[in-house]
Amino acid sequence: MKEIVCKLLVIGAGPGGYICAIRAGQLGVDTVIVEAVKAGGTCLNIGCIPSKALIHAAEEFEKVSHMASAKSPLGISVEAPKLDLAKTIAWKDGIVGRLNSGVLGLLRKARVKIVHGRAKFRDGKTVEVETETGVQVIRAETIVIATGSEPVELPFLPFGGPVISSTEALSLKTVPQKLVVVGGGYIGLELGTAFAKIGSKVTVVEATSQILPQYDAELVKPVAKRLADLGIRVLTGAKAKGLSGSALLIETAEGAEEQLAADKILVTVGRKPRTEGWGLDELDLDRAGKFLRIDDRCRTSMRGVHAIGDITGEPMLAHRAMAQGEMVAEIVAGKKRIWDKRCIPAVCFTDPEIVTAGLSPDEARAQGYEIRVGQFPFNANGRAMTMLSEEGFVRIVARADSNLVLGIQAVGSGVSELSSAFALAIEMGARLEDIAATIHAHPTRSEGFQEAALKALGHALHI
Ligand code: FAD
Ligand code: NAD
Repeated sequence: MKEIVCKLLVIGAGPGGYICAIRAGQLGVDTVIVEAVKAGGTCLNIGCIPSKALIHAAEEFEKVSHMASAKSPLGISVEAPKLDLAKTIAWKDGIVGRLNSGVLGLLRKARVKIVHGRAKFRDGKTVEVETETGVQVIRAETIVIATGSEPVELPFLPFGGPVISSTEALSLKTVPQKLVVVGGGYIGLELGTAFAKIGSKVTVVEATSQILPQYDAELVKPVAKRLADLGIRVLTGAKAKGLSGSALLIETAEGAEEQLAADKILVTVGRKPRTEGWGLDELDLDRAGKFLRIDDRCRTSMRGVHAIGDITGEPMLAHRAMAQGEMVAEIVAGKKRIWDKRCIPAVCFTDPEIVTAGLSPDEARAQGYEIRVGQFPFNANGRAMTMLSEEGFVRIVARADSNLVLGIQAVGSGVSELSSAFALAIEMGARLEDIAATIHAHPTRSEGFQEAALKALGHALHI
């Protein structure tokens, strides 16, 4: 097979890699992308998109079930709903398929050459790819590693049989009667909540003293309350020990042993970078723990080799990978770019949702700032009342001396859509007065954002 020589080779077509290749192509850089499985990567095929589809279907089912139980104050009554999970999964697969073709179309439109197969490094400038038609050698001036991450496996609970990762959980054809989730982080709680809504009896086993340990207790409280309302049993400070038949053996926070009967055990204890088995070790790139070490231009320790996305560490989020991919493409095309983002917003699609951008009050204090904090509850927001979801709040953290906004957090139904307003405010260097002086449309949940700023300034209008 003839060798391909190009200016830029991107390994992995997840959100980091495909964005990098599209932008490079747009800028006229001669670009090749190699993908071992499917364009779109974890996010599009087995992550963000399929999980949000399942979460939405579960939310709709639970809403209708609630009405059927005659508990709805809206005056709507319906017959008992049924869910055909195989159909739900087929609908989800349809969305994934559409987006997958969309990504391939965008790559072609940007004149990026797509090679299907697993890439293996020969040296810092050359890879070989096992394709369906033989080994393809690709030589490039610059290589971008964007091979992402994979689920962490617990040695005493290997994947297989009843023990599943998020990938299998997103393609189940029947609803497990008893689902035990090991790890009460992002995936465990997003998917655990969805399965509880479609009828599973769910237990969450979390090793630390709080679910979603990356968020502060105040933000997590409404989520914990809703989990309890949905009948989800949450065991914090508990350790999974292994299987006993089809039950999960755990040690509770009190040191007692307990067996949790389960049809499926979903293990979601984090993800690890995909660094092994494809010749990366031979390049001997500097590491930051398990991840590849990068600088503020996503350069690794080897000249001409960049890395982006999950393989470079936390936060392992699709929009961070995309932003890094876009920046690296511009650098390769000769533009002056540097990673100068003020914040990377994060959304947890639990019920209610959590959004964070910038610093929490504790993080701001730990960095030595004197701060003022404004918090506005959704139970004082008209739109929240009309939508029967008054749980939660918006909180703003600002410097006490200048009112410069350092961080914004919210928990509440649908607050994921406020994430861009929060990130924009921080990126633009907004002060509390800027947010307070911006007219926010009525009636919307976003008024809570303006009111939180007013509260921090000492003159909230609706509380
Ligand atoms: P990936 O998306 O992992 O893509 C890497 C690609 O490289 C893969 O397609 C892989 O096949 C390919 N590859 C690997 N090795 C090779 C090789 N040697 N040769 C060729 N190709 C190779 N993030 C969010 O921001 N929002 C969410 O709502 C969200 N939800 C998630 C839900 C779940 C269930 C999971 C698992 C993750 C979720 N994430 C979410 C995280 C998000 O999916 C990742 O942060 C994102 O996919 C990282 O992008 P990436 O490009 O770095 O890697
Ligand atoms: P996570 O880091 O969010 O949560 C893992 C949880 O497992 C933690 O709470 C941890 O304390 C707990 N844990 C670790 N070992 C344990 C053990 N032995 N027993 C019990 N609990 C244990 O990881 P995740 O949920 O697997 O998700 C992986 C990554 O994917 C996230 O960090 C995030 O970057 C990304 N993700 C993002 C979204 C989103 O943006 N909405 C959604 C899903 C996944």
